[in-house]
Amino acid sequence: MSARRGDASPPARWRLWAAFAGLFVSLALVWYLVRDPAASHEVAYSVAYGWIRDGKVRSLELSREVMEGRLAAPELVDGTSIQTFHSAVPAQDDTLMPLLHAHDVALHVHEEAGGAGRFLVSLLPWLLVIGGWWWWSARMRGSPLGGGLPQPLRHRARRFDGEATSATKFADVAGLGGAKRDLEEIVTYLKDPDRITALGAKVPRGVLLVGPPGTGKTLIARAVAGEADVPFFSITGSEFIELFVGVGAARVRELFADAKAAAPSIVFIDELDAVGRVRGAGIGGGHDEREQTLDQLLAEMDGFDRRDQVIVLAATNRPDVLDPALLRPGRFDRRVVIDLPALAARRDILAVHVRDKPLAPAVDLDEIAAMTPGFSGADLANLINEAALHALREHHAQIEAGDVSAAYDKIVLGDPRDARLDPDERQRVATHEAGHAVAAWASPNVEPPRRISILPRGMALGATEQAARDRHVTTRRELEARLAVLLAGHAAELLVLGEASTGAEHDLRSAMRLAEDMVAHYGMSDALGPVYYEHHERDVFLGHRIATDGGPSETTVHAIERAARDLITQARTAATAVLERHRATLDAL
Ligand code: ADP
Ligand code: MG
Ligand code: ZN
Repeated sequence: MSARRGDASPPARWRLWAAFAGLFVSLALVWYLVRDPAASHEVAYSVAYGWIRDGKVRSLELSREVMEGRLAAPELVDGTSIQTFHSAVPAQDDTLMPLLHAHDVALHVHEEAGGAGRFLVSLLPWLLVIGGWWWWSARMRGSPLGGGLPQPLRHRARRFDGEATSATKFADVAGLGGAKRDLEEIVTYLKDPDRITALGAKVPRGVLLVGPPGTGKTLIARAVAGEADVPFFSITGSEFIELFVGVGAARVRELFADAKAAAPSIVFIDELDAVGRVRGAGIGGGHDEREQTLDQLLAEMDGFDRRDQVIVLAATNRPDVLDPALLRPGRFDRRVVIDLPALAARRDILAVHVRDKPLAPAVDLDEIAAMTPGFSGADLANLINEAALHALREHHAQIEAGDVSAAYDKIVLGDPRDARLDPDERQRVATHEAGHAVAAWASPNVEPPRRISILPRGMALGATEQAARDRHVTTRRELEARLAVLLAGHAAELLVLGEASTGAEHDLRSAMRLAEDMVAHYGMSDALGPVYYEHHERDVFLGHRIATDGGPSETTVHAIERAARDLITQARTAATAVLERHRATLDAL
C-alpha cells in the first residue's frame, strides 16, 4: 500500500503504518499456524481414494478441504515409505462417505481445518477486511467526495497488458460467428485506427453484449482484448456499488482515467444492469449511490475525445431494465446479441473444451450436441468437466461415452439418491411416470419419451425424459400437448390407483406456470384474447414496471387465473382420455 501522494495528514500516516504493522504480524501468524510440523506426505486425491477403496487406510481426519490419513501399513510413494498422508478434498464427491463407511475407516470430522488456532486463522482475513474498511471510511469522512482514494484501492479493475491479454483469442470462442464479425471491426480499430478513419467511418465507442448467462459474453470480451493485444480493464457492475458514499462514482472516474492513460485499451463492465438500471425506480430508497455511479459512467462516455482509443464493452442479461440514457448514440449504441448456442455451435463449443482432454474415440460430439438443446456454453463446459471427473473416479484413462452420459444425468436429473422406496411407493411412482411416458408417446405434438426412470435422483423420485429438440417457436397446440403430458402423471395415479398423491406437486407447479404464461403472455386464451400482462414478476426489486404502472388490476389477475385453470382442466381431461385409450400400454409399462 502506498500513501496518498504528498498530502497525507499525520493521523492518516500513523494509521497507515499501524495497518502495515498489523498486516505483517498477521502474515507471520498465519505462516506459523499453517506450517505443518510433522509434515505428512501430500498425495493426489485419486491416490488417497484408491487406498481407501483398497481398504489400506486405518483412520482419517476429514475437514471440508483436506483429509489427513494414517495407513494400516506403510506404502511406497516416490521411493519413500510413508504411513501418514494428506490430500485436498473436492467439494463434491458423494461416493467418498459410503466408501469410508464400507471399509470401517476410523473417521474424525472437523468443521474447520483444525483446532482453535486454525479457527483464528480463518477469522484473520475478515479482521483485515473490517480493519481496512474502518481505516478507509475514516479517511473518506475526512475528505471531500472521492478526494483521493489510496492508490491500490481505487478500483478493482484488473489490468492485464502485454502478454497477459493475448491469453484468450477468438479461436477459444466457439460459435458466435455474428458477434465475432461485429467485434472484428473493433479489433481493427484498436490495432490500426487509421484504416478505419481513412474511410471516414466511425467506430462505436460502447458495445453492449446482450444474452443469457453463460453464453460467453465475458469470454468474447476477453478475446477482443486478446486479438487486439491491448490492455483490458474489467470490473463487474456489482463491484461498483459500494457502501461508501461517492466511491462508486470515484471508481468510474479513476477507471476511465487509467484506461485513457493506457489507450488503446478496452474497458469491460460486466453485469451492467447492476449499475445501469433505470433511475428513480425500484422499491425503497438507497439508490442514490447507484445513480451517482451511473451518472458518472454516462459523463465519462460523453467525455471521450475523438482521439481517445478506448472502447467500452459491457455485458448484461437484462437489457430490459437498463436506463434508456445508456443506449443513446455515443454511449452503448451498438448491441451484439449473444444467444444460446444452436446445434452446430454446441458441437464447436464441446470441441473447444475437449481440446486438452483425452477422449475415447467412441465419444461422439455430434451426439452430445444433439441431446443438449438449451445448454449454454458454460453448461457445456461444465458437462465436459463433470465427465472428466467421472472418468477420474472410475479410473478411466480417457473420457468415455459412459462418463459423458453419467455427467449428463447428474446435471439434468441431479445426483442419484439413496432413498429406499417401499413396494407400494414404487408402484405409485411407476404408474405416475408411465402416465407421462404414454401421454408423450401417444401425442404427435410433443417430443417422444426417451427414457423413464424410477430411481430417485436429486429432488425427484422418478423421471421421464423426452427427446430434446432445438425450438424457437412453439404453437398453442404444442403447448397444450405439453400441459397434458405434465398432468398425465397425476391422471395416471387417479386412473390406476384411484387416488392422487403428493408426487404431482412439481408437475402441477410447472403446468400452472405454463398455463399462466399461455394466457397472460402468449395470447392463447379465448376468454382474454391477445394480451400481455406482467403476471408474475419474479423479483420486485428489479421491476421498474411494478414501480411505474403497478401491474395488472385485480380483476385481470382473477381472469388470468380462471383462464389458466380452464387450460389445466382441459389438459387433464385430455390426458385422462389418452390414458384410457392406451390403458393396455399403460398397464403393460
Ligand atoms: P457469460 O459472461 O455470458 O455469463 P462466460 O463468458 O463467463 O459467460 O462463460 C462461462 C464459461 O463458459 C467460459 O469460461 C467458457 O468456458 C464457457 N463458454 C461459454 N460460451 C462459450 C463459447 N461460445 N465457446 C467456448 N466456451 C464457452
Ligand atoms: Mg460473465
Ligand atoms: Zn410427474
